[in-house]
Amino acid sequence: MGVSVSVLASGSRGNSTIVRSSSTRILVDAGISCSETFKRMKAAGDDPHSLSAILITHEHTDHVSGLLVLARKLKVPVYMTGATHQAWSRSMRDAAGERPQLERLECFSSGHSFQIGDIGITPFTIPHDAVDPVGFAFRAEGIKIAIATDLGRLLANVKDNLRACDVLVIESNHDLEMLRDGPYPWSVKQRVMSRVGHLSNEAVSDFLEKNYDGNASYVILAHLSECNNLPELARVTAERALRDRMSLLANKLILAQQDAPLEPICL
Ligand SMILES: [Zn+2]
Ligand SMILES: [Zn+2]
Repeated sequence: MGVSVSVLASGSRGNSTIVRSSSTRILVDAGISCSETFKRMKAAGDDPHSLSAILITHEHTDHVSGLLVLARKLKVPVYMTGATHQAWSRSMRDAAGERPQLERLECFSSGHSFQIGDIGITPFTIPHDAVDPVGFAFRAEGIKIAIATDLGRLLANVKDNLRACDVLVIESNHDLEMLRDGPYPWSVKQRVMSRVGHLSNEAVSDFLEKNYDGNASYVILAHLSECNNLPELARVTAERALRDRMSLLANKLILAQQDAPLEPICL
């Protein structure tokens, strides 16, 4: 069976990814509805009831909107930082009037690795306007998968965690020019562009040119803005950066989608 990854949904209307080893299946973020998650898991060949755990990167709605229903139906442990849990339950209480209860909550701290089944997980801090946002590096069977979306900058600690990956899922949120000229109010544009906002195509290109070690078999561009980006623009910008480093042409470039799951990537 080996290690594999499926991006079920990616973008500001919901994010969810599955990381699998031979014996463990982890759902990273629960940003689409429970029924849609089940539908997409089945399309990707997974039985939802085979999930081992749910991991949450941060409390923004596009990463947690399906969490409560999923956790109640599947009765699997939910892993997030203590601060993220507090922020999430506060926002749920404000919306519904009661504090949501997770039957099985496991809190982790950024920088401290832990294990679920045979998958080792390292959460690392990312700069984003949430209370305690993290990216994740997963290790199993000699394979490393890293997921880093929703971050304003690629700080040194993030770059460290993106080294020696077999699959790199990285945000390519917006084209700077489209964002500047686009319909968002100026305050929102500033937020997206800020140090705790989202990564632009240009920032990813810069990383691929200057810092990326070229190790990944697959580079997945994720969390593309539907308003301030075009898939082809994100692809061409990243391809140009890879082309300028001929040694990286073996890296397959894939674009994650909002409305359909990607084919599982098997390693
Ligand atoms: Zn997001
Ligand atoms: Zn976010």
